[in-house]
Amino acid sequence: MPDRLVYSTDGGRINTCPRCGLPNAKCRCDQPPAGQQPTRKSDGIVRIMRDKKHRGGKTVTVISGVATSQNEMAALAQQLKKLCGSGGTVKDGVIEIQGDHCDKIQARLTELGYKVKRAGG
Ligand SMILES: [Zn+2]
Repeated sequence: MPDRLVYSTDGGRINTCPRCGLPNAKCRCDQPPAGQQPTRKSDGIVRIMRDKKHRGGKTVTVISGVATSQNEMAALAQQLKKLCGSGGTVKDGVIEIQGDHCDKIQARLTELGYKVKRAGG
């Protein structure tokens, strides 16, 4: 190897992936296989709790831990809103349904295959 190669690579050290040997920027080892959406985390436990918003003391049902894509969460929220006949929102990975619908929502999510835990009151 010519000595000057040292200079040409100086400062340009590339961290490569030990698995595929590609530079980390190109490595896709940690990415889900093509065509597969990220699925729920294996230990993904969905928590349902009743929460009273400060504004007006309205009760909402809060569903957290649904580790799916934003689209899936929106679809799920849509389903739950319909189920409960209430409004609701998806925000920061949490679904909020207006009113106290813990029982209904727990039953539905369990049906859908989620592990559901009741949290708080
Ligand atoms: Zn890799």
